[in-house]
Amino acid sequence: MRQRLVPICFLSTLLCLVSLNSSAQTLVKPPILADSWSQPYPGFKIVGNLYYVGTNDLACYLIATPEGHVLINTGLPGSASMIRTSVEALGFRFQDIKLLLTTHAHYDHVGGTAEVMKLTGARMLINERDASVLEDGGNSDYAFGGKGSTFEAFSADALYRGGDTIRFGGMDIVSLPHPGHSKGANSFLISIADEQRSYKVLIANIPTVVAANLSSVPGYAGIVEDYEYTFEAMKKIEFDIFLASHAGQFGLHQKRKPADSYNPPAFVDRKGYDMIIDQMLKEYRRRLAAKN
Ligand SMILES: [Zn+2]
Repeated sequence: MRQRLVPICFLSTLLCLVSLNSSAQTLVKPPILADSWSQPYPGFKIVGNLYYVGTNDLACYLIATPEGHVLINTGLPGSASMIRTSVEALGFRFQDIKLLLTTHAHYDHVGGTAEVMKLTGARMLINERDASVLEDGGNSDYAFGGKGSTFEAFSADALYRGGDTIRFGGMDIVSLPHPGHSKGANSFLISIADEQRSYKVLIANIPTVVAANLSSVPGYAGIVEDYEYTFEAMKKIEFDIFLASHAGQFGLHQKRKPADSYNPPAFVDRKGYDMIIDQMLKEYRRRLAAKN
């Protein structure tokens, strides 16, 4: 696997400054596929310094470090207060969030990002292939765009390439490019230890097919090649703990009840991962075959 260590301080010199869109935007209401997307879920410790701070289904992850915290994903627009409640209930200061990342730039994973940036001053890094979608609030997204902004527009502070390692607070967060669902969709692989052992944690971006017809996808030339690459790459990843962008994708509610105590092995699940990747691959092939 190609890995390049890219310290965040280096990345910050490369690219653009934040320009939060201060004027109030009128947002187009995007498809909300489940009520669970906006229902709360109590935050909990997954393993070591990694915590779940998302909603009932939209997974958000906090990596707590002595140099401040990393927040991966922010749910739908309006989710910042739910995330804040979870972060503070776990004993952390919301203002100590310093770095924002996302598995992909859709309204259900970056919808709260502009607000979190305003509340915390955190910097946002994104895969370069998803950067432009942030700047028009998702309107240029090939699948959900074209009707207006579905989340508050903003610019990332810096960009990385798929395969780069983002180093922050002593953590190495490896981005694995898994394009298709969005152009810059990526998973993250992170080694996280507790007192017992070290785990390779995969936050997988499951490659759900969102284009109805893969033969011609306006705005995304090369989508088929990207999905082909992604399915092959995802089969080969080695990891211990399986997490994902949606709680339902990694079976959070089957694996854990809100009152359960700390139990990282509950999330060790190669079989569940292989099953959902296989399920997505079948759906992808079905839509590919349907094009002719
Ligand atoms: Zn998505």
